[in-house]
Amino acid sequence: ATPTAVMVATGVGANNGVLIKGGDALERAQMVKYVVFDKTGTLTQGKATVTTTKVFAEMDREKFLTLVASAEASSEHPLAKAILEYARHFHFFEEPSAAMEAQDHRKDAKFSGWLLDVSEFSALPGRGVQCFINGKKVLVGNRNLLMENGVTIPSDAETFVVELEESAKTGILVAYDAVLIGVLGVADPLKREAVVVVEGLRKMGIKPVMVTGDNWRTAQAVGIQDIRAEVMPAGKADVIGSFQKDGSTVAMVGDGINDSPALAAADVGMAIGAGTDIAIEAADYVLMRNSLEDVITAIDLSRKTFSRIR
Ligand code: ADP
Ligand code: MG
Repeated sequence: ATPTAVMVATGVGANNGVLIKGGDALERAQMVKYVVFDKTGTLTQGKATVTTTKVFAEMDREKFLTLVASAEASSEHPLAKAILEYARHFHFFEEPSAAMEAQDHRKDAKFSGWLLDVSEFSALPGRGVQCFINGKKVLVGNRNLLMENGVTIPSDAETFVVELEESAKTGILVAYDAVLIGVLGVADPLKREAVVVVEGLRKMGIKPVMVTGDNWRTAQAVGIQDIRAEVMPAGKADVIGSFQKDGSTVAMVGDGINDSPALAAADVGMAIGAGTDIAIEAADYVLMRNSLEDVITAIDLSRKTFSRIR
C-alpha cells in the first residue's frame, strides 16, 4: 500500500471510531490468525451486579453484607464496586430504621459511615482481597484465595458456587477467621454483539480465544471453545506468546490494567475505549465506540488496504 492509502485507511478508521497508532499496526491486522479476548469488561458489559447471597454462618444478612462491603471498600475492582452498591442499598433500604438516614447519604455515594474499620487491606490480583476486621482475617474472592489461606470450602457452599457458575455467574466466597461464612453470586451480562462478532471472526478464518482470571465454568457460558481460565494477570501475556510460537499473528482485545502486558505482547493490541488508560497506552488500536464489531472493522480495513499490493 502507498503512504497515501495508509493515510486514507487511518482516516477511515478514525471516522469509525477506530484509532490506529501507525502504519505498522494497520498492516499487521490483515494477518491476524487468533483474536484473544479478555472476558470481564471486554466480552461482558463490565457492569457486574450481585444477584444472590447465601450466608453459611449464624450471622444475619445485613451483618454479612456490611462485613463484605467493608473488606471491598478500598478495591477498585468491578466486582468490589458491585458488592458495595448492593450492600449499601441493602443497608439503607432494607432496614426501615435506616431509611431516613439514607435520604442524606444517598447524595454522597462515597459516604461510608456504615462500614467497619479495616486494617492491613491488600488487593490480590486475580484472587480477591484480604484485610483484618475486629482483629480477624477477612478474605473475599475466589476458591484459590480461600484455599491458599487454608480455608475449607464445605460441600454445600461448593455446590452453591457450582450452581452459580453453571448459570454464567461468578461465585465470590467470603471467609472470616478462617471459616467460610457466605457466598455472593455476581452477574455480568455479555455485550449484545459478542456472540455475533465471535461467529463473524470464525467466518473470516480467525480463531477466537478467551483469556480470563475468572473460573472455567463461568467462562464457558460465553460460547468460545478455546478458553484459558483462572489466568493471573501476568499469565495473559504468556497466553499470547503461546499462540505466537509458530509465527502466527495474534490480536488481543482488552480493557483492564491486567490486560496491558498482553496488549503489549500481542502483534495487534486493541483496547476498548472505555477501558483503563494503561490498557489504551499499551494498545495499537483503540476502539472508541466500545463495540466489539470494530474488531472486525479494524481487520477488514487492514485487509482492504493491503490486499491490493499482494
Ligand atoms: P478478568 O480477567 O476476568 O478481568 P480478574 O483477573 O480481575 O478477572 O479477576 C479474576 C477473579 O479473581 C475474579 O473472577 C474473582 O473471582 C477474583 N477477584 C479479583 N478481584 C476481586 C475482588 N476485589 N473481590 C472479589 N473477587 C475478586
Ligand atoms: Mg477486563
